[in-house]
Amino acid sequence: MTETVLVTGGAGYIGSHTTLALLQAGHDVLVLDNLCNGSPEALRRVARVAGRAPRFIEGDVRDAALLARVFAEHPVTAVMHFAGLKAVGESVREPLRYYDNNVAGSLALCQAMQSAGVHRFVFSSSATVYGEHAPIPYSEATPVGRPTNPYGRSKLMVEDLLADLAQSDPRWRIAVLRYFNPVGAHESGLIGEDPSGIPNNLLPYITQVAVGKLRELAVFGGDYPTPDGTGVRDYIHVVDLADGHLKALHALGQHTGWNVWNLGTGQGYSVLQMVRAFEDASGRRLPYRIAPRRAGDIAQYWSDPAKAQRELGWHARRGLPEMMRDAWRWQQANPQGYASS
Ligand code: NAD
Ligand code: UDP
Repeated sequence: MTETVLVTGGAGYIGSHTTLALLQAGHDVLVLDNLCNGSPEALRRVARVAGRAPRFIEGDVRDAALLARVFAEHPVTAVMHFAGLKAVGESVREPLRYYDNNVAGSLALCQAMQSAGVHRFVFSSSATVYGEHAPIPYSEATPVGRPTNPYGRSKLMVEDLLADLAQSDPRWRIAVLRYFNPVGAHESGLIGEDPSGIPNNLLPYITQVAVGKLRELAVFGGDYPTPDGTGVRDYIHVVDLADGHLKALHALGQHTGWNVWNLGTGQGYSVLQMVRAFEDASGRRLPYRIAPRRAGDIAQYWSDPAKAQRELGWHARRGLPEMMRDAWRWQQANPQGYASS
């Protein structure tokens, strides 16, 4: 069945890859993005790869009048909601901006959907909702904890809001997708992650050191209780993640109410394993030094991806070499991100 999917935040990193996957699967896509951290160039490139363009509406997900108009004018059958702010440190400094964007934005979107009679919803959540002291690997049965920052709490609040909504009205079909660590870029080298300023995340930091934009990688902590003392995470290729969204959307045909799926590989890698995998893929040596731990970091976690495999028929296909190869190809072809073009 061909869908018309409203993709909020579709000009951003994960949203642009998912928009491409939706177009390639034959769906029609309407992107709503206020461009606070996205780029229209990403959408032009998505169109180039897909051979057809998503429709683009520049606007804010908190704009109720705009949302009402979008639903009135387009035959939207489902919504994928990526729009939000995601920098943990910034969320500590500016909690009101985070709750407004992430919580009030999601609320406005659900209200507009309810009024328009659209009830299929895919939400970008995060593994950060699991408790700090939860046993590893994290499965969907692992109790959620109390996230340590406003960003994480905003994700948990929206998860709860969606659960209440599904409880109140049986027409809702909701997929809450808890991402582990999205990395990499599309194989074409045309779309990828374009962080503004100095990257917070490991892989864009590594690739920017490798192209000479940054001097060396600071490895945050060398004394964690992990095999080599550095932090361990479950990195997942963004194209696999995008595919997981398609599978979740299709699964909402059978799954009513509120559903949650982890999107991870089930495999953890340490920071030093990431550095070595990058060196292997790029043929470059990466300068790094062991630095103090970063406040708020957990030693290690990874996903149990069995539920997504069982219920969505989805598993991550791309391993570390592909993640590194594609991240590196993107960085080399676009040293200034989308501003390079
Ligand atoms: P991103 O910043 O690249 O994309 C988000 C997009 O949303 C941007 O294009 C931005 O301009 C847009 N946006 C933000 N607020 C908006 C608003 N109020 N109205 C309209 N558009 C708005 O981020 P991403 O990495 O693609 O993340 C997408 C989603 O996935 C976010 O909700 C994020 O919290 C979640 N997530 C990301 C990660 C990660 O590591 N990247 C991990 C877990 C969850
Ligand atoms: N990390 C690091 N140096 C950096 C950025 C990240 O050593 O410049 C480490 C971080 O401590 C964690 C892992 O890399 O162990 C992944 O961090 P990222 O910020 O990408 O994701 P998060 O930990 O927030 O899930």
